[in-house]
Amino acid sequence: MRSVGNCHPAAFFLRKRGQIMYLLYLDDSGSAKNPNEEYLVLGGVAVFERQVYWLSESLEAIAKTINPTDPDSVEFHASEIAGGRAPPWNTFKKKEDRINIIQSVLKVLAQDTVGTTAFACAVHKKSFPSDDPMERAFEEVCDRFDHYLRRKYQEDNEKARGLIIIDKTAYETTLQGLARDFRRIGTRWRVIKNLADIPLFVDSRASRIVQLADHVAYSVFRRYQAGDTRLLDVILSSFDAEGGKIHGLVHKQNYDSNCMCPACMSRRIT
Ligand SMILES: [Zn+2]
Repeated sequence: MRSVGNCHPAAFFLRKRGQIMYLLYLDDSGSAKNPNEEYLVLGGVAVFERQVYWLSESLEAIAKTINPTDPDSVEFHASEIAGGRAPPWNTFKKKEDRINIIQSVLKVLAQDTVGTTAFACAVHKKSFPSDDPMERAFEEVCDRFDHYLRRKYQEDNEKARGLIIIDKTAYETTLQGLARDFRRIGTRWRVIKNLADIPLFVDSRASRIVQLADHVAYSVFRRYQAGDTRLLDVILSSFDAEGGKIHGLVHKQNYDSNCMCPACMSRRIT
């Protein structure tokens, strides 16, 4: 399986300087413009650079169960799997079987023991009518990732740097605009210190880990948009957390100060 992680020049440069790198793969779920959807989610996984290969192999093994002769033709895209309209997902007639496939992809993250960590932000669009929800989610996730890297340094004395890798699909224009503006955003959020470069945009077909990020974003979207917890429950313990407080999952809303979702409940812990 191809991967953008291990060959990126920034990773090579940092390795020469004795630093290690975490790659944050992100994808979106929901639409900023669709009035029928209340939420937009940006989410994904932070992966230690040397773990990229092994995670990709685990996902490749699932692809081989779907199409043993041509696993590369299998792209895990959670909303398409759930919908079951296009091949190969239309051969799985029962919705339950298709949900099982999404859960099996998520279990690769849940069962990872080398510190692969989930991050996501669900933005309730009507709560912030004058903001671009994607920009809001992007800044929030960057901030959480930066905290994660800083904590690694403080707790483990691990000089970790971060690189953000984003699926270049529906929000390419918005996110590339954000990437161009990244130094301003980075300054505002102090993110730039721990990131090695501006975000990279990749084709999700080329990276199994971007496909995993898609599943994380979709799981969070289903939780907030439809109250469906079947997917998020699989990976809830994979979000960045410290002392019982979940830092990696953010529910950005201003309509319910007593929200009982795991992210809001965790934030109320003092
Ligand atoms: Zn909440």
